[in-house]
Amino acid sequence: MKNLPDEAAQGGITMYREVAQKLLSFIKSSPTSFHAVWNTSGILEEEGFERLKEGSAWNIRPGGRYYVTRNGSSILAFKTGTQMENYSFHITASHSDSPTFKLKENAQIDVRGKYTVLNTEGYGGMLCSTWFDRPLSLAGRVIVKEGNSLASRLLDIDRDLLMIPSLAIHMNREVNEKQSLNKQKDMLPVYSGRKMDADALKNLVADELEVEAEQIYGTDLYLYNRAEPSIWGAEEEFISSPRLDDLECAYASLQGFLRGENSETVRVYACFDNEEVGSQTKQGAASTFLSDVLTRINAALGKTPEDLSRALASSFMLSCDNAHAVHPNYPEKTDVCNCVYMNEGIVVKSHAGQKYTSDAVSIALFKMICEKAGVPVQFFANRSDMNGGSTLGNIAMSQVSVNTVDIGLAQLAMHSSFETAGVKDAAYLIRAAEAFYKSHICEMDAGVYEIKESCTGK
Ligand code: ZN
Repeated sequence: MKNLPDEAAQGGITMYREVAQKLLSFIKSSPTSFHAVWNTSGILEEEGFERLKEGSAWNIRPGGRYYVTRNGSSILAFKTGTQMENYSFHITASHSDSPTFKLKENAQIDVRGKYTVLNTEGYGGMLCSTWFDRPLSLAGRVIVKEGNSLASRLLDIDRDLLMIPSLAIHMNREVNEKQSLNKQKDMLPVYSGRKMDADALKNLVADELEVEAEQIYGTDLYLYNRAEPSIWGAEEEFISSPRLDDLECAYASLQGFLRGENSETVRVYACFDNEEVGSQTKQGAASTFLSDVLTRINAALGKTPEDLSRALASSFMLSCDNAHAVHPNYPEKTDVCNCVYMNEGIVVKSHAGQKYTSDAVSIALFKMICEKAGVPVQFFANRSDMNGGSTLGNIAMSQVSVNTVDIGLAQLAMHSSFETAGVKDAAYLIRAAEAFYKSHICEMDAGVYEIKESCTGK
């Protein structure tokens, strides 16, 4: 195994394989956005971050570290500098959710007294066929009534519990030529080999949480793929796992955030829920969450609204979401000369219609940061006759408008229940994010930028 470029010179940056293993164990322990945010909170607490509540007053000190969650499924963490005279925000944004199936409130369906299947509906745009014939289970959050209060509890039924069996080819001879999948007909998971009591599933959830079934007042439960993450390939160059989109970026930008210090900026780590369903929720990237938190940071530091506008004018954001690598069986699906490969560095995405926020200025600044950090970058654009997805960046812009570049890591099989990426790329993003958080982007004159550690006395 080769080390990352000039790894020894960086001192202490672990080898990428070790980084990939840590990433995969983070993803494995995060079957839903609620778990991802819970695990992120745990990492932040270990690093000495103080939890803030949106409903309480904030006492923020220069040089402090804090985090705040919304809905238990989106999280913002930040570190304030010690010299805040002309501060700006350095932000990364990623998303905590992935396409899956959500359990409906009344979920049990009896089939001829011989099976119980569960009634689900799609969450986000998944590749349905990838959910067939593999052990699945349920995870999410449960609202439990305790006395007069309602408490949110995390649930992960950590065993092979469900399966969506495919139909035998003998009963659908044309399946390999044409397959259309109906979420209400084809995608319901089998739960039991008999007709279960009406409360069976509720009782299972209650048993897992060690409460009574009557105490369960609400649930947000999702299917997840039980497959073990894997490092594979002739030279172990690939990683495969559920939810690489976007937990690979969420994890890597978090590690970069933890390492990146700068005394003149407020460094912000953002991870939003609901990107896969359009972000228009109270905790999504289109919500007021980020702008609320930035406004409160500014006020708590004793600054004026004008100071906030000045800070935002010189702020910078990395919108981090995975990108499509060239598929070996379909190379024609990607642009001829703006196509990307796994293990070849960070993907910078651009789109003339501004589905990606990148422009010449934000691309140039990011390129320079990566160059200094010794991290390779590659460029992605969709084929001009194909629409890609939009990203967090341009959605968040409606609430907080700052210079932003859309980046990500190259992967295959996006929105499959088991996706594939490069073993080196998370380590590249950690290093790039660290370099981004360590730097201060100074506008020396109108449209003239320098990347320094300090803009004081520029
Ligand atoms: Zn994504």
